[in-house]
Amino acid sequence: MRIAIFGPPGAGKGTQARLIAARFRIPHIGTGDMLRDAVRSGSELGRSVKDVMESGQLVPDELIGEVVAARLGEPDAARGFLLDGFPRTKKQVGILDDALESLGVGLDGVIVLEVPERIVIARLAGRSRSGDDGEVRADDREEVIRERLRVYEEQTEPVAEIYGRRKLIVTVDGTGTIESVFERISGSLQELVR
Ligand code: AMP
Repeated sequence: MRIAIFGPPGAGKGTQARLIAARFRIPHIGTGDMLRDAVRSGSELGRSVKDVMESGQLVPDELIGEVVAARLGEPDAARGFLLDGFPRTKKQVGILDDALESLGVGLDGVIVLEVPERIVIARLAGRSRSGDDGEVRADDREEVIRERLRVYEEQTEPVAEIYGRRKLIVTVDGTGTIESVFERISGSLQELVR
């Protein structure tokens, strides 16, 4: 199964992505996680993206494109994968198309988690106080949250439209408990691979 998951910041995308990857036994390729790891490790990549990430903006398409293309070429991704946080711009859709074409594969579907903006803001404000995995993210401050939502609407919603035209979108209601959202997604994915 080769899928991508979309949703505004705070939609619970990362949490759901980890659960889906475990249930369907596919690697979770989360670009936000990969970049945060790079920042933490102090690598050249990490140093080059730190400030952009903390401002709530997107890192350059070519840079993240190379990271993802390399990751998709690793042996464990041959069985399938779940992309979380990529592609996020129209340009990245092209980069992904090329990478998949050279691997001779295609996406089976794109999950869009729908969560109303007021719920997203409330969730993110909670995360900035407590951390969703015991860790406070540098980009979970209120003004950065608003910037991330703006960037999502401006750059990432058009990406969903592209996949909509390709008839790959599976829309899932992202409100409710983690478990109930996960069951909804699993149900949709089972339909998809049948
Ligand atoms: P996320 O955890 O997916 O919300 O990503 C956190 C931050 O990492 C984003 O606000 C961006 O600065 C950066 N990032 C993650 N994925 C991408 C991507 N596909 N393109 C550009 N920037 C990204």
